[in-house]
Amino acid sequence: MSVHAPTTAVQTPTKSPSGETLVEVSGLRRVFDLSKPWLNRMIEGGGRVSLTAVDGVDFAIRRGETYALVGESGSGKSTIAKMAVGLLPPSAGSVTIGGTDVWGEQSADAQRRMRRKIQMIFQDPFASLNPRWRVQAIIEEPIKAFNLLPDAKDRTARVGELLTLVGLDARDGQKFPHEFSGGQRQRIAIARALASDPTFIVCDEPTSALDVSVQAQVLNLLRDLQERFGLTYLFISHNLAVVRHVATRVGVLYLGRLVEEAPARELFAEPKHPYTKMLLDAVPDIEMEGKDRQAIAGEIPNPVNPPPGCHFHPRCPFIMPHCSTDIPPPHAVGNAVARCHLFAEGAGTND
Ligand code: SF4
Repeated sequence: MSVHAPTTAVQTPTKSPSGETLVEVSGLRRVFDLSKPWLNRMIEGGGRVSLTAVDGVDFAIRRGETYALVGESGSGKSTIAKMAVGLLPPSAGSVTIGGTDVWGEQSADAQRRMRRKIQMIFQDPFASLNPRWRVQAIIEEPIKAFNLLPDAKDRTARVGELLTLVGLDARDGQKFPHEFSGGQRQRIAIARALASDPTFIVCDEPTSALDVSVQAQVLNLLRDLQERFGLTYLFISHNLAVVRHVATRVGVLYLGRLVEEAPARELFAEPKHPYTKMLLDAVPDIEMEGKDRQAIAGEIPNPVNPPPGCHFHPRCPFIMPHCSTDIPPPHAVGNAVARCHLFAEGAGTND
């Protein structure tokens, strides 16, 4: 897990979400087939190999909220992001946005309307912008694709507006991506994401490729845009210091399963699941000054062959005999939900 906190102050969430659910993820599962081709299996031996990257994940995001998914590499967070925006079909389960199933049967028209309302900001602003296109062409691409402004002059004016909105100059549309810094490129990617007037944006590690010094500026921009346009974010990150500052709710993933979900403040103040505690113990932060920082214990197991029962049991300091055989169901603990046998009725201490 990265532990770099942005060096400039980041605005913390100030506005409460409306309470209305915009995004609902239900029983989401994704299995990848990693088997060798049939002929190789016949000659070299070996059976089919599959990897369950996402295993029955449920969560809901309210309108205007920033829901953060955190976890170590291989936890399944980016796979969930891709399924949420319609880039990768789930093996089972559903994602509904505004009541419409992203992967359900629907007319081409309804699908277009929904796609227009979902956008994604990727981790690497160097790879996500076409280097041969001028910024004007990059930002107006969704405007053209959804036929929002048929007149070229209107599109140019709109691109100028979007560039100004993200803190760049309206004339920057004539430049190429290589003429900008990493932070400025991410601003261009944000302008492009806003071009189709979305309601839901998936931010996949949007600042992790940037210098620590510019991370806070980009996070503050995302926060300002959210307040101004009532945007709903799914924020994917392995950096808890960043998540702490942007999220209203947090879901913690471990080997494809959501092990804890809680309001951000509560999760950081009083984590429930042993894995969440371990992650937080590894983060240096202002409020943790004077406290010994503990490295994350153990290695994340091979996701092709995850430990049975609770996937976390080989690393858990609180392991009980049934942890290695029984999958923990979700338990409500105050405003949080934790998938851990410690919270089962009669399990004894929860600390
Ligand atoms: Fe630890 Fe058992 Fe809880 Fe898993 S279910 S986190 S092994 S106590």
